[in-house]
Formats: sequence, structure tokens, C-alpha cells
Amino acid sequence: MYDSIVLGAGIIGVNTAYWLAKAGHKVLVIDRQPDVAKEASYANGGQIAVSHAMPWATPSAPWKVLNWLIQDDAPLLFRPKADPHQWRWLFSWLRQCSRSNTQKNTIELLRLTTYSRQLLQQVRQEYQLDYRHKTRGILHIYRNKHDLDSIKAETELMQKYGCDRQFLSKEEALMLEPALRWASQNIIGATYTPDDESGDAHQYCQELSRVCQNMGVEFALNTHILELQQEGKRVHVRLNGALGNTRLSANHMVVCMGAWSAPLLRRVGIYLNIYPAKGYSITLPIEHEDCAPFVSLTDDEYRLMYSRLGNELRVAGTGELAGYSTELNAKRCDLIVEQARKLFPEAGGFDQARFWAGLRPTTPSNLPYIEKTHFDNLWLNTGHGTLGWTMGCGAGKYIADQICMGQQQAEFNRFELQPQ
Ligand SMILES: Cc1cc2nc3c(=O)[nH]c(=O)nc-3n(C[C@H](O)[C@H](O)[C@H](O)COP(=O)(O)OP(=O)(O)OC[C@H]3O[C@@H](n4cnc5c(N)ncnc54)[C@H](O)[C@@H]3O)c2cc1C
Repeated sequence: MYDSIVLGAGIIGVNTAYWLAKAGHKVLVIDRQPDVAKEASYANGGQIAVSHAMPWATPSAPWKVLNWLIQDDAPLLFRPKADPHQWRWLFSWLRQCSRSNTQKNTIELLRLTTYSRQLLQQVRQEYQLDYRHKTRGILHIYRNKHDLDSIKAETELMQKYGCDRQFLSKEEALMLEPALRWASQNIIGATYTPDDESGDAHQYCQELSRVCQNMGVEFALNTHILELQQEGKRVHVRLNGALGNTRLSANHMVVCMGAWSAPLLRRVGIYLNIYPAKGYSITLPIEHEDCAPFVSLTDDEYRLMYSRLGNELRVAGTGELAGYSTELNAKRCDLIVEQARKLFPEAGGFDQARFWAGLRPTTPSNLPYIEKTHFDNLWLNTGHGTLGWTMGCGAGKYIADQICMGQQQAEFNRFELQPQ
């Protein structure tokens, strides 16, 4: 009998397994893919970004989204479906757009992302993990005064709650990241968060899963989770794959199945407000070292993130609320290539770019579910939306602490932000 079974081996599942094993649990991790982190955690923007702690739901967001509804190349697309879950998500999201909710959600996101970034640094150091990470901060660039002015309040709130996000002039931004020289005409200013980082989430998961295996964690890959079955106040999981067609249970089962958590849980009467937000990335070989950025960047206008991963450049972003398909839309892919080429025309092999799409498990508030359900042995660590890579390490520790020590004793509950 396992102490804990972790359902899903993305960034959230692998971190959860690690912290449970560290607390002495015998752990089994189950995933349908042949390797860890092959779905939403595979080729994301690579940013460990406390400076992205702003939720999607803000007072100005509904107007922006309305404008974007008619633009085919908008950074955020909504494709209405005859799906009550999509509409429920959208109405809850609108409710989260009030000033007070935005502020509350931002502070909570700041707490979890800051906590997580610190833990990630400790884990990296303890096991000497190498995931093509860079600790050079994150630079947000702005092209017009309206956008730069509009992030003033957000930046001040972040500073007040401990995030060292600084305003930079165009000249300072170019000095920090000379590869931006091609676009210097268009940039009018920037913000810079020196403590933010970047790295490859898939490679991190592979490295950490090896650490987990050394700690005795078992991985059942190529294994489909078919359903949860209720038996009194407990649940069992029915599987098909590497372990055969079987049913398992454990003292604790943690659902970390990203966008797929909600449909699985509905079958046992748990309704999570998680909807998939499809995003895209391109990854291309860097051909001219000094023509690609070393500092991880966010281009707020196009909602695109740039991270150098070894000798490759990852560009990721855009959002589509359009169901569970990960099919690549050629127009969206071309848009990313076009913008990346404008910013870094000499960086490398745009014609060799690899394209990818993944589903962010998004909640209306951007806050994840990290909690116990009404079943005695069922826990949730899911719904990390746009920031799963950033929150993963901290979210894993938080749920493991709740399972192993009780909610009250969890370290995260004592974690306080230090104002700048
Ligand atoms: C384009 C894009 C860019 C992003 N950029 C960033 C970024 O720069 N920084 C950041 O912090 N975050 C970023 N994110 C968000 C981040 O990638 C996600 O929040 C994170 O990957 C979610 O992790 P997860 O483990 O919850 O989900 P997943 O990685 O999807 O893991 C869920 C796992 O469950 C498994 N599973 C699901 N259903 C079943 C089943 N029935 N049976 C068996 N296994 C199953 C899947 O195979 C999968 O491995 C980005 C996302 C996208 C799409």
C-alpha cells in the first residue's frame, strides 16, 4: 500500500511527489504519457516570474477582451462553445475583475510565487539540478506611454508586497539587454525584476523525477487514469496501462492533472472551476549569440515571453479559451514567429522553429486549488494557470505539508512577504 498516489506527472505532480517523499511517504506517480511533463509543462515560456503575479482578471481586462473578440490575431481569444463549464468560468472571471478582487488575488499570487521561487532555489542547490536555468531576472518591455502608465499601480502594489520590480528607462533596458538594439526605436521603457529566473520546466521535471526515484518514488507512466470511484468517504482510482487494468487506493491521493482535473473530479461530485487556456510556443536554435536575449523578457503588448534555454530561444504566449484541443493554429504560430523576428531578427533559425501548444489549467482568479476535498483520502493541487512553473515547487510543498502535518502546521501559512 502506498502512503500517497499522485495523479499526473506535470510540473505540479512531480513537485508534489518530491515533497511527499521528502516527508517520508512511499509514493506512486501515475501519468498517461511516456515521460514526465509532456503536456502543459513541456514547452512553456520558461519564466519563474513573481513579476507576473497579476491575475488575468483586472478592472480593465473585460474591455480589452471585448476588443480582442473581433481580432483574429489578438493575444487572448475567446471562442464561445455550447459548453456550460466555459460560460460558468467566464462569468466567475468577470466577477473577479473588481478592484478589490484583483488586489486580493495579486497579493495571494505574490505570496505563493515568492515562496515557490525561494524553495526552487534551495532544491536546485541541494541536488545540483541543471535545467538550462538563468538567474538574470525578467525584463518587461513597453512600446507606448499608455501601457507603461497602466502598470504603475500594479508595480507599486508588487513593490509594497516584496517584489523588487523596478522601472527602467529605455537606455537602461538596452544596457541590461543589448540584444534589444534592433527594436530600440519602438521601446519607450521597461520594468526589471532581478530576482526572477528562467529555465526549462520539462528538463527540471526530468531531473527532479530522478531525485524522486532515488528516494524510492515509483512512476507508472503510459498509464491512463480512467476514473475515480467512490466508496464511502474514500476514493479509488481505476487505471489502464503499465500496471494493467486495475484499481488502486492509498492513504492520500493528490489530483495534479492540470486542465484534465476538472472533468475527472466531476464524476465524484467535485466541481472545480478550471478551464483550459491554450497557449503556444516556438523554440528555435540560436545562431548568433549576441543577437538573442540573455535576460528573460516579457513583451506585454503581444503577451509574449522570451527565454534563452541553452543554445535555444523559447518564445511563448497567447491564450485561447476554446476547449481541450491542442491542435496548432498556423495563424497563431506565424504571429509568434513574426513578432520574435521583429524583436530579434538576427537571433537564429526561425525556419527551424519547433511549434507547440499546451493547455494552461486556468481558474477565474488565477489562484490554484491546493487543499483537501470532502473525501478522507482525496487532495487537490491543480489549477495553476499561467504560473504553474513559477508556483510548482511551493505548491508541492504546501500540499505535502497539509497532508503530512495538517493545514495549520503548513510552512506556507507562516510565510510573510517583506515590503521593499
Ligand atoms: C504557452 C504557455 C506558456 C507558459 N509559460 C509559463 C511560464 O513562463 N511560467 C510559468 O510559471 N508558467 C507558464 N505556463 C503555465 C504552466 O506551464 C502550467 O501552469 C503548468 O504546466 C501546469 O502544470 P500541471 O502539472 O498542472 O499540468 P500538466 O503539465 O498538464 O500536467 C498534468 C499531467 O496529467 C496527466 N494526465 C491528464 N489526464 C490524465 C489521465 N486521464 N490519465 C493519466 N494522466 C493524465 C498529463 O499527461 C500531464 O502530464 C505556460 C503555459 C503555456 C501553455
